[in-house]
Amino acid sequence: MTYSKVIAIDGPSGSGKSTIAQIVAKKIGHTYIDTGAMFRAIGLHLQTNGVPENDLDAISNELSQFNFQYGLSDEDLVNINGVNLTSDIRQHFVSDIASRYSKVSLIREYLREFQQNLAESKSCVMEGRDIGTVIFPKAYLKIFLTATDKVRAERRQKQLELKGEKVDLDTLIEDIKKRDERDSKRELAPLVKADDAHEILTDNLEIEDVVSKIIGLEKDHHQRLH
Ligand code: C5P
Repeated sequence: MTYSKVIAIDGPSGSGKSTIAQIVAKKIGHTYIDTGAMFRAIGLHLQTNGVPENDLDAISNELSQFNFQYGLSDEDLVNINGVNLTSDIRQHFVSDIASRYSKVSLIREYLREFQQNLAESKSCVMEGRDIGTVIFPKAYLKIFLTATDKVRAERRQKQLELKGEKVDLDTLIEDIKKRDERDSKRELAPLVKADDAHEILTDNLEIEDVVSKIIGLEKDHHQRLH
């Protein structure tokens, strides 16, 4: 693959990825793809079915059999074997499950292929941890969003509150640090900035400011092509 129609947005949780990626995608007419939702769904499915992350035979067996669907509709974003997991995956405890199972190479390989296929036929804004480094190293625009721990925890708290779940700030800061550490230090596809990604610290920026910055970079890219 020498050229890709993908904008890759990577970064840790609470950096503003999802909100920003969704708005950017809508504004420029790309499809928005949330890869975190895929890791959450597979992790939750396996854990619920009693398959631990170290049982590679059972994981392989599940992956070869199950029917994994992404993007059937906004309400049915992730679905495994006909079960719509879209709202279940947003519960706080699923973040940790996703991070644990995301270390398993079988799962990463499965999703790498799945994500690359999704982008084959359409332009998209794909967000995750390894989109600009592993999944689409030739993405035409790469963004790496960051924010300090406290700001990220406050954003997570607001998101969870909107879904009716209350978690105190100190717990969230601890959870975020633990998850960052695991995601950044894992052997496979760790959370790192690609050398050619534009890094944006979002702490003191409004959502619209980050969106405009990305859209500006997108326009620059097209101008350079013409
Ligand atoms: O982005 P979100 O917080 O929903 O992701 C949940 C977890 O899934 C992350 O903490 C990370 O462990 C894993 N993940 C990943 N690679 C991606 C997207 C998510 O390893 N591309």
